[in-house]
Amino acid sequence: MQIKQLIVGPIQTNCYLLISQGEMAVVDPGGDPNKILEEIKKTGIQPKHIINTHSHFDHTLANKEIIKETGAKILDLKEGDEIKIGDEVLKIISTSGHSEDSICLFGQGFVLSGDTLFKDGYGRTDLEGGSEEEIQKSLKRLSEIIKPGTKIYPGHGEIFSY
Ligand SMILES: [Zn+2]
Repeated sequence: MQIKQLIVGPIQTNCYLLISQGEMAVVDPGGDPNKILEEIKKTGIQPKHIINTHSHFDHTLANKEIIKETGAKILDLKEGDEIKIGDEVLKIISTSGHSEDSICLFGQGFVLSGDTLFKDGYGRTDLEGGSEEEIQKSLKRLSEIIKPGTKIYPGHGEIFSY
């Protein structure tokens, strides 16, 4: 899978284009729709899906424009769901804590962690729907299932190895 990182919007959100076998999903189009559309255009691929790692505005701001311009559909994903992009399958793990609806996407050798897990810590829990207790549970679960060396693509900041 090819993963293209774009930094967008008012709080420097990582938007990712996931590409495999001529299919594409856009993860967290959190602003700067024109910048995202430009990158999409460069690939020559029409995205099928939009995935939001959670519903905070800085991860969803450009949903509408991407839908309007490309016809992509928002996937509402929950624990246990799987999504196929080309020949890659991503598994969804629910990781509430930063928000109630936070998810992580597990692929072959990589995880898109949204605002649950960052290089230098984890997402804040003081916003509506946030819970310190829940995020600690989610982080513990992640630590049990993410293999060392897995590449982590967070919702903000640097991509890193687990
Ligand atoms: Zn957030």
